[in-house]
Amino acid sequence: MTAEEKTAAARLLDLAADCLRGGYRGEDREYRFEEDTPPGSPAAGSSAADSLAAVAGELGACDRCPLCRTRTNTVPGEGVDRPLVMVIGEGPGADEDATGRPFVGKAGQLLDRMLAAIGLSRNKNCFIANVVKCRPPGNRNPFPDEMLACTPFLGRQIAILKPKLLFCVGKVAANKLLNNYSIEAIGKLRGRFFSYGDIPLIATYHPSAVLRDSSLRKPVWDDLRLLGARLAELDGDYRPPPEARAPAGGNPSGGED
Ligand code: URA
Repeated sequence: MTAEEKTAAARLLDLAADCLRGGYRGEDREYRFEEDTPPGSPAAGSSAADSLAAVAGELGACDRCPLCRTRTNTVPGEGVDRPLVMVIGEGPGADEDATGRPFVGKAGQLLDRMLAAIGLSRNKNCFIANVVKCRPPGNRNPFPDEMLACTPFLGRQIAILKPKLLFCVGKVAANKLLNNYSIEAIGKLRGRFFSYGDIPLIATYHPSAVLRDSSLRKPVWDDLRLLGARLAELDGDYRPPPEARAPAGGNPSGGED
């Protein structure tokens, strides 16, 4: 999409919101979108000199969408510079907004256990980021215009980090990265590989959903094993732990709900 098309789409969404409010006109928003780039190609604004520090610096001053008015901290993401896997969530929650770090609350602790079950961690071989870098109030899903404004940052991070594999947790991240216009349930997207440009992408349930519904542990574990098997093909140095290679059964992401 061009920047102009995005602005037109955002204005249309504003108009629809006005109609839903019974014709009351909300405040006029100013939009500054960037052109989409084809998935996998260097993102708009990225260059050989682009860096995670530059992205984080720009985010700190970002006022491209209304989330800037309610955030405490931006949450650019964290992890290693040359990750095997880049994990992408939806957006910061209260704990992440307070600390400026991604996935540090209960869902984040479960995410860490999920990754550890296949020999991955943010300290060793992963980078963890979100579609939007500021907390949506009340933990609601980010609005389309907020995602449109923020995804150039994510695109730049992917272009800089060049992960071997993308791992989307939850339907918001999966649908956004797959450029889906109609939102597919995660149950329809999980369990198989897609591509983001030339990077394989797999999605699974969001850890918050697993905390609410323990029956999701089994499909998440199956997805993690699938991810581990593909990663072993992509990177000669990576070996999933033996239990992650065993036939489907146990569930190391267990622990409390
Ligand atoms: N949920 C997310 O999607 N991202 C976070 O960083 C924390 C919770």
